[in-house]
Amino acid sequence: MEEFQYKVALITGAGSGIGRETAKMFAKYGAQVVVSDQDETSGQGTVNMIRELGGKSTFIKCNVAVEAEVQELISKTVKEYGRLDCVFNNAGIEGKSQTINECTRESWDTTVSVDLTGVWLCMKYEIEVMQKFGGGKIVNCSSIAGIIGFENLSPYVASKHGIIGLTKTAALEFAKKGIRINAVCPGVIETPMLRRFTQGDVESMAKEVPMGRIGQPNEIAETVIWLCSDKSSYITGQAIIIDGGWTSK
Ligand code: NAD
Repeated sequence: MEEFQYKVALITGAGSGIGRETAKMFAKYGAQVVVSDQDETSGQGTVNMIRELGGKSTFIKCNVAVEAEVQELISKTVKEYGRLDCVFNNAGIEGKSQTINECTRESWDTTVSVDLTGVWLCMKYEIEVMQKFGGGKIVNCSSIAGIIGFENLSPYVASKHGIIGLTKTAALEFAKKGIRINAVCPGVIETPMLRRFTQGDVESMAKEVPMGRIGQPNEIAETVIWLCSDKSSYITGQAIIIDGGWTSK
């Protein structure tokens, strides 16, 4: 895709799983990629992979739940590359597995501050910059947990539902300003998060997927890239489900 040549793409939570794969794919399609993560070692690992493949990439450490760090991430990106065209707000945590009444205030706040507030904070500062440069594309990472309920994951499920509401609202607010804002809703995807969640027994989840298999991170990355490309030029405010049929059950 020639259209990503000279474009700048920022991916949060890009040190692992879906974020890493998306960062690599943006680089493959010619974008200059800002890899961000709260974990410096894994984030730098993604940058090294991109550079080995001949791509251009920089690591910027950021905890998306901390406003000052998000502000600095965006200002450093613009300082280094002079613009910001595409963003994948992907950083997220699964939180503790607990029923609503077992969930403590601390554990609620920890998950919501990363998974929901983090996406809001990122959009707040990304949109400021994109407006100055005349537009941009934002993709937020929700989940099928943003469409249906999952037992024992209330802060995660509430955050992922909230991301879809935020995405629709932001899309309306900036539709006339050249900023398209969408969300992706992955099903069960083979990443370290899924391995933690299933305690290594990923295959037991595969049985529950209508397509009979776990999804791969590149299957999410392809959709993110498409949503950031001009091929999806009339799409904004949507939550695209990529789940092998799970939510059709
Ligand atoms: P992962 O755990 O492999 O990667 C998540 C990355 O986010 C890690 O590199 C981690 O260091 C980073 N991160 C965590 N908290 C952060 C913070 N506060 N600030 C910055 N970075 C932070 O997980 P994944 O499966 O690749 O998940 C990526 C996104 O996809 C998440 O938003 C997750 O909720 C969503 N998702 C995943 C699945 C799945 O089955 N894997 C399904 C639906 C949605």
